[in-house]
Parts: sequence; structure tokens; C-alpha cells
Amino acid sequence: MPDCIFCKIVKGEIPSNKLYEDEQVLAFLDIGPLSEGHSLVIPKDHFERFDQCPPDTLAKVIAAANKLAKAVAAATECDGYNVLCNTGRAAGQAVDHVHFHIIPRNQGDGLFD
Ligand code: 5GP
Ligand code: ZN
Repeated sequence: MPDCIFCKIVKGEIPSNKLYEDEQVLAFLDIGPLSEGHSLVIPKDHFERFDQCPPDTLAKVIAAANKLAKAVAAATECDGYNVLCNTGRAAGQAVDHVHFHIIPRNQGDGLFD
């Protein structure tokens, strides 16, 4: 997808702070973090929405998110974290390339209040 920001990140046309990469998955720090360690995990192939991403690809993305969440939680010493996949404008999806947020949380941070 030529105009997709995340496809450009996958291709290295836009720089990112990479946290994890394999053949099918990329994880990197969010450019506008809601908290320290806010990360994004994406399939390298372009799928616009969660429900358009094939289950086998999704499984790989979730498996990477699972490992990364543990590492991010340990590195930030957060009290908890949210794993979020916003789908559609009404749900807050701004980038139309399926992605999972890992958002470290701390007691009383009021992030989603
Ligand atoms: P959404 O609202 O679509 O669920 O989240 C998109 C996320 O992508 C936002 O948290 C935003 O800060 C992040 N983002 C948008 N553009 C870039 C970029 O060029 N680089 C990185 N690292 N993150 C981005
Ligand atoms: Zn894309």
C-alpha cells in the first residue's frame, strides 16, 4: 500500500524504533506514546482491519505481542498494560493497517478516564 505509513515503516522508508522483527511481524515504539514504552505490533503485510487479517497472520502478531508485552512490562516496571486493536474510525483507528497497541499502565494514571 503506497500511502500507508506502517507499510512505509516496514519497508524502511520511514524510520522507527524497532523492538522486534521477524518475517511476518514488526514491533516498534509508538511515535506519540500514551505512556513510557507504548508499542505497536503489526503484520508486515497490509491488512486494513482486524477482521480482514487472516487468522494465521493474526496468530503470529499476537504471539509477538505476547512476548513483547512481557518485555515491555519488565522494562517499564508498569503495574499493568492494555493490549488494544482499534478498528474503524468510530473506535479510534487512525492508521488503516491493522496494529495492536501495548500501553503500559500505572495505578492512578487516569489514561482512559
Ligand atoms: P490508532 O489510533 O490507529 O489505533 O493508532 C495509530 C498509532 O500510530 C497512534 O498511537 C500514533 O501515535 C501511531 N503512529 C502514527 N504515525 C506513526 C509513525 O509514523 N511512526 C510511529 N512509530 N507511530 C505512528
Ligand atoms: Zn500498510
